Amino acid sequence: MYYDHKTLLYLDGKFVKASDASTDLYSQTLHYGYGVFEGIRAYKTENGTSIFKAKEHYERLKNSAELINIPFNYNVDELVQVTYDLLEKNNLSDAYVRPLVFCDPNMSLTQPNNVSLMICAWEWGAYLGDQQLRLSVASYCRPHPRSVKIEAKVCGHYVNSILATTEAKRNGFDEALVLDSDGYLAEGPGANFFFEKDGVLYTPQLGNILPGITRATVLELGEKLGLEIKQGLFRPEELKTADSAFYCGTAAEVIGIESVDETKFPLKWSNSLGKKLQDEYSKLVRTSELKLSTVN
Ligand code: PMP
Repeated sequence: MYYDHKTLLYLDGKFVKASDASTDLYSQTLHYGYGVFEGIRAYKTENGTSIFKAKEHYERLKNSAELINIPFNYNVDELVQVTYDLLEKNNLSDAYVRPLVFCDPNMSLTQPNNVSLMICAWEWGAYLGDQQLRLSVASYCRPHPRSVKIEAKVCGHYVNSILATTEAKRNGFDEALVLDSDGYLAEGPGANFFFEKDGVLYTPQLGNILPGITRATVLELGEKLGLEIKQGLFRPEELKTADSAFYCGTAAEVIGIESVDETKFPLKWSNSLGKKLQDEYSKLVRTSELKLSTVN
């Protein structure tokens, strides 16, 4: 599903066949989840393939690595170029791109001397589908910001996400909504959360969540549209009187939420601020930004 016998991926400076690429089973990342990754989307635009916020994603990858003491000796502009090359070699335009920095064999709990970087890409439809989601509040909370570097996109953090999503699906919901360790609204297992009440949008503040690149884009779009958006700490009970809500993330894009724990939001999605932002977001990602040729 993710690759076939012709697919190429990028591994440590070379393009190699995905089916031939291999890694060491003693990698510290495999055993301890000690690695960092990104999720990026490319879109087909009038001017060819455009990787949305490519630089921002690679900057976050660098920042994630540095926050957890993983050496990162790559040049962000070069990584952006490599990603365009990877898409071209695989004939991909609308695609999801997954860079992963993983560590050498090391069974001790010490920082690695050497790391590898791999980048792969595949065609991936909207991660959470295109129907409004039925959520349930997870029994798991997000990792405590004093236990991990919560603002880093670290492989191991995603055990929490997998537990929360699996629980929600087992209970018949589409996805989980995860609170922070103090019981405030935090985020989805793989997306940031917004809700609307009386014409104002609210979103959890940074600190206990992944600083989403889509979240930042939505805040910018909201500002352009003249919307009032408040960032802060919000209790889940606030959702009982909210009008509408949505998730946003690179893989999920902007997707409406129908209900949380069977409480339905009263505002029709088509009349919500989320829908306006969804439309603006989908226009924006298909407008080519800074083309890389200007970097070369
Ligand atoms: N929160 C979590 C936990 C995520 O995994 C993601 C996806 N990277 C997001 C939020 C959204 O981040 P972005 O918009 O940068 O994809």
